[in-house]
Amino acid sequence: MILETFPVGPLACNCTLMGDEEAGDAIVIDPGDEVGRIHRRLTELGLKLKQILVTHAHIDHVGGALKLKKLTGASIFLNENDLPLLKMMDSQAAWLGVQAPETASPDESLTDGLAVGLDRYPAKAIHTPGHTQGSICLHFASMKLLAAGDTLFAGSIGRTDLPGGDFDQIIDSLHSRILALPDETRVLPGHGPGTTIGEERRSNPFLQIQGREN
Ligand SMILES: [Zn+2]
Repeated sequence: MILETFPVGPLACNCTLMGDEEAGDAIVIDPGDEVGRIHRRLTELGLKLKQILVTHAHIDHVGGALKLKKLTGASIFLNENDLPLLKMMDSQAAWLGVQAPETASPDESLTDGLAVGLDRYPAKAIHTPGHTQGSICLHFASMKLLAAGDTLFAGSIGRTDLPGGDFDQIIDSLHSRILALPDETRVLPGHGPGTTIGEERRSNPFLQIQGREN
């Protein structure tokens, strides 16, 4: 299998390309920017892109999705609760002082429990609101791998001070959904180095905080 994660764009969003060289297909997670580079890599590897999976609608994660779709014909998956953020692309671009990328509504909502990914490398979406209302993580259970978007980082968690953010909610999401995963699960965060669930359970200061009572 092919699994490549590389930072794209000025905010260094981790873009992940996962491919099955036997089947000749691939998925891309969070093509925030540098679509030419992502597309070149798919071409070099001879892989047909099946799905564009977006963990949330912040510009640094979703910015290149439509361009990549136009180049490859792949469908875009994004949780519907982030549609308001997607419609705010002009303001998001203004925060960064960059030009707003063209966006379009996703082809399918990346709802909780939705099965996505490749035949041999399937994933399930886990809705983890808090960083944004539509934030999701992708769990590749058979590979013991989690693409966490901006919900969980090595030693930190996603910021909750932007529109749609909610600190209590991200803490709840982490405790109820993410810490339920086995310790050996490798985590690919939306920014920065990789980690594991076990390492974060032990040492991430934010995971020592209990969520609100439900
Ligand atoms: Zn974000």
